[in-house]
Amino acid sequence: MNILRYPLIKSLLKNRWPQFTIMVVALAGFLVAILSGLFGTPVGSRNFGIVFVWIAWWALLMLVAVPFLGRGWCSICPIPAPGEWLQRGNLLGPDDINHRDHGENKKKNSVFSVRSVVKPHNRRWPNRFRNIWLQNGTFLLVALFSTVILTQPKVTAIVLAAFLFVAVGASLVFERRAFCRYLCPVGGFIGLYSQLAPVEVRVVDTAVCKAHTEKTCYTGSADGYGCPWDVFPPGMVKNTYCGTCMECLRTCPHDNIAINIRSFGADLSVERVRKMDEAYKAFIMLGAAAVYSTVLLGPWGTLKLAAYSVGSLPWLAYAASFLTLILLALPGLFWLMIWTGIQLSGSALPTKKLFIAQSYALVPLGLSAWVAFSLSFVFANFSYVLAALSDPFGWGWNLIGTAGIGWTPWLTSLTPFLQVGVLLGGFLWAAITSRKIASENTINTLAMKLSAPVIIFCLTFTLILMGLLVA
Ligand code: SF4
Ligand code: SF4
Repeated sequence: MNILRYPLIKSLLKNRWPQFTIMVVALAGFLVAILSGLFGTPVGSRNFGIVFVWIAWWALLMLVAVPFLGRGWCSICPIPAPGEWLQRGNLLGPDDINHRDHGENKKKNSVFSVRSVVKPHNRRWPNRFRNIWLQNGTFLLVALFSTVILTQPKVTAIVLAAFLFVAVGASLVFERRAFCRYLCPVGGFIGLYSQLAPVEVRVVDTAVCKAHTEKTCYTGSADGYGCPWDVFPPGMVKNTYCGTCMECLRTCPHDNIAINIRSFGADLSVERVRKMDEAYKAFIMLGAAAVYSTVLLGPWGTLKLAAYSVGSLPWLAYAASFLTLILLALPGLFWLMIWTGIQLSGSALPTKKLFIAQSYALVPLGLSAWVAFSLSFVFANFSYVLAALSDPFGWGWNLIGTAGIGWTPWLTSLTPFLQVGVLLGGFLWAAITSRKIASENTINTLAMKLSAPVIIFCLTFTLILMGLLVA
């Protein structure tokens, strides 16, 4: 179902003001998070930076935005906004400066013009990095230090400021949104899991696109920018790299863009765009969910201490084990499962091809692991959000009268049931996906044998996580 059939939704999405306003509010919150991290209380649970980023935003992202809206967050994310405004030379839209006359309209919109401040280079992102390997690396880098980032306001502030700084730099050197597409550690995993979302941006009719020589959805027009994510909308078959920014909706003169409500996980069965970098992203996310659950929620104090003591020998051992598990052990074990499946089924398909294809079954498993992990602390700590909103720096303010609200865990008795449900749901979804992928190139009975070891892998992972989170 195309929701753009409803004129109100269509005009809200086409209009730049709602998106711009939310982005500005989010940017203000982001800057307060940086300032409170740098100058506010060092007590994490009283600091806006920690509470808003790692409880409120994380909950919104993991429990709502990613599962239901895919890359919806990217359309209002404040991190690339300042860089993008500088790159475009405009805060709002491609007005007169870029596309129309240079006369009367220029005056009308000049209040939004920022072109004179800097001169962007608009270089093309290098071909050899046109993949998500760098993004996999930036995620691992953040993940290695995450115990410190999550608890120390100053470190959170430095990391957020670094994101902003790199995003602005990337926008000034490279064309379009190079930071979001190739570097952002958050964007990498949102892209992976956006394949599961029940919503997609797609063209309505590719024949209309074929006949349209200007391809303004990619090149831009007076009504909007060419796809900021460097996606060619007529060829888009999955959500991973579409930032749902709505520019193509604004620039398509043939009304040929749709926002479809679809079944969950529809992208997982798109055969022709499966790649090793994305397969590795699935392993990294799956492994990181397991490591976080073990270190942050498990009963092993020594492990926790090692993860916190950045730079020490125990931390080096922790970092080495973390990387070995995620980059070698998990993919190695999975490779073994694929090889076993091939032996059982007698399939003639190359192991590497099956390895990549079957790794997409880990996408629902990984998301369910992250949702279950997030459930363990989000509701328990959500009451901190109200206090931090009233006193963001922990300086004794009481802006909205909620500073005095003490720690009150919410829904704690329900949490384990929700977690078990989510993990079992994730396992079933992974098993069905594995079976479906296996049957793409083989008959049903062989597909069962081909996917059985992968299903056992997923079940084992689910039971281990259930033990860690719920038992
Ligand atoms: S602008 Fe519209 S019709 Fe033209 S190629 Fe893009 S989506 Fe197709
Ligand atoms: S322009 Fe269209 S295809 Fe490109 S990121 Fe925005 S919504 Fe997605």
